[in-house]
Order: sequence, then C-alpha cells, then structure tokens
Amino acid sequence: MQKTEIVIIGAGPAGSACALLLADAGKEVVLLDKAAFPRDKICGDALSPDVINQLVKIRPSLRERFDQQTDRQRITGLRMIAPNKEEFVLYLNQNQEKNIEGFVMPRMEFDRTLNEEVRIHPKIKLIENCKVDKVTVVADGVQLETSEGEFHALSIVGADGAHSIVAKQLAGFEMDRNHYCAALRVYYDNVEWDQPKDLIELHFIPEVSPGYLWIFPMEGNKANVGIGMLSKHVAEKNVNLRSELDKALKSHPSISPRFKNAMARESVKGFGIPLGSKKFPISGNRFLLVGDAASLVDPMTGEGVGNALRSGRFAAEHLLEALKINRFDAAYNKAYDRRIYKAMWSEFRISRAFQKFFTNPRRVNWLTGFLNRNKKLHQKMNKWFLEDHLMTHWNKPSFYFKKILNLK
Ligand SMILES: Cc1cc2nc3c(=O)[nH]c(=O)nc-3n(C[C@H](O)[C@H](O)[C@H](O)COP(=O)(O)OP(=O)(O)OC[C@H]3O[C@@H](n4cnc5c(N)ncnc54)[C@H](O)[C@@H]3O)c2cc1C
Repeated sequence: MQKTEIVIIGAGPAGSACALLLADAGKEVVLLDKAAFPRDKICGDALSPDVINQLVKIRPSLRERFDQQTDRQRITGLRMIAPNKEEFVLYLNQNQEKNIEGFVMPRMEFDRTLNEEVRIHPKIKLIENCKVDKVTVVADGVQLETSEGEFHALSIVGADGAHSIVAKQLAGFEMDRNHYCAALRVYYDNVEWDQPKDLIELHFIPEVSPGYLWIFPMEGNKANVGIGMLSKHVAEKNVNLRSELDKALKSHPSISPRFKNAMARESVKGFGIPLGSKKFPISGNRFLLVGDAASLVDPMTGEGVGNALRSGRFAAEHLLEALKINRFDAAYNKAYDRRIYKAMWSEFRISRAFQKFFTNPRRVNWLTGFLNRNKKLHQKMNKWFLEDHLMTHWNKPSFYFKKILNLK
C-alpha cells in the first residue's frame, strides 16, 4: 500500500489546480486519473474570462503556456437566438482597456496545458490509467482501492468529475434530475459563418427548453456543436436529444444552411452536467469535493471550468491550513463548504432564476425583443454583467447604489 498525505482523484482542471497549488507550497501530492493524458473531455470548450483569471491565480506560467496554444478561437461576445429567430448580441469587450477575453479551445488541448505543468512538477506523482473503485474512511485516513493497487492518505480530494465515485461513496451524492443537465457534443469541420466568427451562439429552440443548442466557433472552420437540457424535462417530455440535434442541423432555418457542406468529425457523444442549483455537503471526514464532483456548474450557462479551477484552488488553501494543525475532520472541513458557497451561491441562484425564466419560449422571445428595442439598457446590461460582475453582486444593495450614483 502506498502512503501519502494527500491523494487527489481526477486530473482534470479541478484536480490539476489543487495539485499544483499544494505542490507549489511544498507538499507531496499523489494525483490519480483513470485516463492517460492528453485525453478528451466532452465539453462545449468555451472558456470564459473567469477561466483565464483563475489560471493566473493558480500559476502565472499557466497563462503563458495557454497563450502559446494556437488551437484556440478568441471570443468577443455571444449571440443569442430566440425561438422566434430574433437575436441579440452581448459583447465582452465594452471597455477595451479591461481586455476581457474568452476563448473556445478543445478540452484535449486546454487540459493538456495544465497537465504539462503537473507532469513536470517534482512534488506531484501523477499516476495515469489508474481507476479508483472504492474509497473507505478509516481511523487514521482514507484507503483507496484502485486498478493500480491500494493507497492510503490522511485526506483526499474528489476531483473525479460528474460521475464522481468520491461524491457517491463518501458524500452520499445522488443525481437529482431537477439539478442535472443532459448534454451532447459533436465536432464539425467545414462549417459556414453568416456573422463574425468570434461570437459563440446559443440557439433557444422550443423542443429543448430549458436548454439550448450551441455552435461554438473553433480555430479554422471547425465548430463545437452541442445541445443541453435539464434532465428532468428530458425525462418528463420524453425528449430525444440526439434526434433534436440532428433535426436542427438538417432543417432549422438559421442553422441548417451553414451545415450543408459540414462534416461531423466524430459520432455524437453525451455526458452529464451536475448543476450548482442545489446545495449538498461537499466535504466530510477526511475528504473535499471539487469541480463537477461538487456540482459547481452554472445552472444557466453550463459553464463549469472556471469553478472547477476556483474550487481546486480553495481546496488546496484549505488543506494547507488543515495540514498545519493536523485536522481533517468533518467539522473542520465545513469551512471549505462555507467558502465555496459564499463565493458561488448567489451567482448560482440568479442563474437558476434565469434558467426557470427561459423555460417558457415566449419569455425568451419577449426578452430578446425588449433588449433589442432598448439599446441603452442593452449596453448597460453588457457592462453590468461582464465588467461589473452583476452575477456576483446582484444581492448586495451597495451594487445598485453605486450604479445609481454612476448613472446620474
Ligand atoms: C456537453 C458538455 C458541455 C460543456 N460545456 C462547457 C463549456 O463550454 N464551458 C465550461 O466552462 N464548461 C462546460 N461544461 C462543464 C465542464 O466540462 C466541467 O465543468 C469541467 O470539465 C469540470 O472539471 P473537473 O476537473 O471537475 O472534471 P473533469 O474535467 O470531468 O475531470 C475529471 C477527471 O477525473 C477522472 N476520473 C473520473 N472518475 C475517476 C475514477 N474513478 N478514478 C480515477 N479517475 C477518475 C477523469 O478521467 C477526468 O480526467 C460542459 C460539460 C458538458 C458535459
């Protein structure tokens, strides 16, 4: 049995962020993943400005490595197409000085960027092709049964994604369809653009509501195309997401003409998205959960990479304190849950409200028209959402107070 202080299960963005921060603080870390890197992760591949900020906070060299990648498309905004085909565009860069950037970059490449730093770190022991099957908390730590033998750690981090074994076996996590999204992805070559190519596109089609079909431009004439819908509604309305995607690409008036010469590069692939719209214990005796294992995906947009990195960072900071005083018990670890939800819960709540609002296609039509008719409000919304972090501060009266003063 291999013994160590900290074992992290899963070397995606959440696990890698946590490992790098612990290792940079001088701790020996064992990082296990059932896959061998580079590995694909089914995803929309959209990286919000928050992702880039998190990279810098974890290690400035990650940003430099990220900037060297060529297989990425810079994004300047998003195009939302309502069920009645009316559309409006939200730009990221209202204020050029702030240089807010987003990207679409295949997760194969993004995760490789993180993995390259993990792999060469002298304090991280990365073990690939190592599937964790069983986790058991014992008196002096946690025992792991894996395809590569047994491990013992003082504490573990569950960074093993949407189907987390750690969340199921230690936190008693059960999938709740009302807080889970079913999603499909397929890469296409030779897609045509009728608009500037630096906008991500969200098509709200009534058959998959609440949810949307996305077309995310990639480097060259490639696109990441997918569809996602709340699992509860998939089950209740008996929706076949694969055929809805196929139908839209073949016959939707504003989508199909651009795919007439396009070729799928792979078969359609599906994966779950655990949404952050429901709180559950994300730590316990000798374990912490991060990223998708902790259900930290934005309920409206489906973005999870930024919070995966952020939670990996918070977990590392929590563990560094825990190691100093040798405390890994559930009561001590509650401080981690509090920090995560303090940082993310208000954003999740407003996103959940938007998700519910978007359940009715007529409301989406109304909102799109309303924003198009009210250019000033539209511009202000751009600024409030993307530069002033409305999603983080919406429940603080001081936010509105400052806005009112500024508006005068
Ligand atoms: C279709 C789809 C589209 C999405 N689009 C976007 C998007 O455009 N932008 C965005 O920000 N987010 C998006 N997301 C969400 C995003 O993919 C996740 O939030 C993000 O990958 C979470 O990172 P993570 O490190 O927590 O988990 P993951 O990236 O899933 O990494 C988990 C790792 O754990 C390993 N693992 C799992 N089980 C075990 C085990 N038993 N033993 C050992 N290793 C194990 C896996 O091999 C994997 O490497 C999307 C998700 C889906 C499904």
